[in-house]
Amino acid sequence: MIRKNIKIIALCALVILTVCVALILRTLRHESTYETSFFAMDTFMSVKATGHNPKASVEAVRDAIMALDNDLSVTNPESIVYRLNETGACVADDDLIFLLNKSAEARELSNGAFNISVYPIMKEWGFTGNEFKVPEEAVLNDLCKALSVAEISYTNSGEPVKLSEGTMIDFGGIAKGYASKIAGDIFAGHKIKSALINLGGNVYAIGKKPDGSLWNVAVNSPDETHKYLGILSLSDKAVITSGGYERYFEKEGVIYHHIIDPSTGYPARSGAQSVTIVSDDPTLADALSTALFVMGLDGAAELWRSNSALFDFIFYDDKGNLFITEGVKDVFSSDIAFEVIQK
Ligand code: ADP
Ligand code: MG
Repeated sequence: MIRKNIKIIALCALVILTVCVALILRTLRHESTYETSFFAMDTFMSVKATGHNPKASVEAVRDAIMALDNDLSVTNPESIVYRLNETGACVADDDLIFLLNKSAEARELSNGAFNISVYPIMKEWGFTGNEFKVPEEAVLNDLCKALSVAEISYTNSGEPVKLSEGTMIDFGGIAKGYASKIAGDIFAGHKIKSALINLGGNVYAIGKKPDGSLWNVAVNSPDETHKYLGILSLSDKAVITSGGYERYFEKEGVIYHHIIDPSTGYPARSGAQSVTIVSDDPTLADALSTALFVMGLDGAAELWRSNSALFDFIFYDDKGNLFITEGVKDVFSSDIAFEVIQK
């Protein structure tokens, strides 16, 4: 009994010592923490960083995300994407090339479930102007046909991007992931090793917490039964969620949400309530969260089995069942029973 108590006391002393050493080192290195919140890309964002002069880096991140929001907006007549959609052509910059490449990669990986050219369909449903309506089936069929032959041609930054007749694009399914990536690049440039980027519940955890422990990231819950679906303990990972509950309207008792199945033109009915992607690559994670929501559990599991080095996922279905892939099983904890998807 006495020996057990001594062990517990020794363990507590060790934990306290480790935290004290981390704090002393931080002070010696003149490290501090700075956090800011702002509204961009239609959501509340908060960014915090710890290091030498974190304020400059956090403000640079905020400014870069605001600028990106202006460039990528489909509704702002000043934006590059607006001009591209209106005129069918524009000159590419680095952001546009990166996003077009990543979107093409996600489209290929997901066998077309992720497709930025879904924008004319989004518009038809009124998701852009918030003037919601249920389109006629024939109209959606025609738009799906047009989508299947939509083409985006581009080469490099500084060169033209051209859309085929009738094609319009929207980076809404990937922009927040890319904003996280840009934030990560800025922090790396400022030599910040510990930062947390939270873009409306989509989190990118850089390095570890200032005390050296892992970040704990809550996985958003789409229903009121649970506050969170669970907690992930990790470092250097993006945790990005898509859910039909984020934007939707109701008509005659039916809920229509904002994630479109490009093969039908209707909001995806794959049995998903929410899909969270965990990945080193925030941009891909965002695109895949949208794609896997469209694909449903079986499609998601199949895609993961052949690309498990790229991402893991947490899938919450519309019956309240929770599934996670093997790669996150040791870092995920939850009060909800879950099934682990194996390779
Ligand atoms: P949120 O923006 O709520 O975080 P998502 O990342 O899933 O959620 O993005 C949804 C947005 O992606 C939609 O508002 C629309 O702009 C766009 N979108 C909808 N369906 C698709 C799709 N199948 N492929 C690519 N983008 C899509
Ligand atoms: Mg997404």
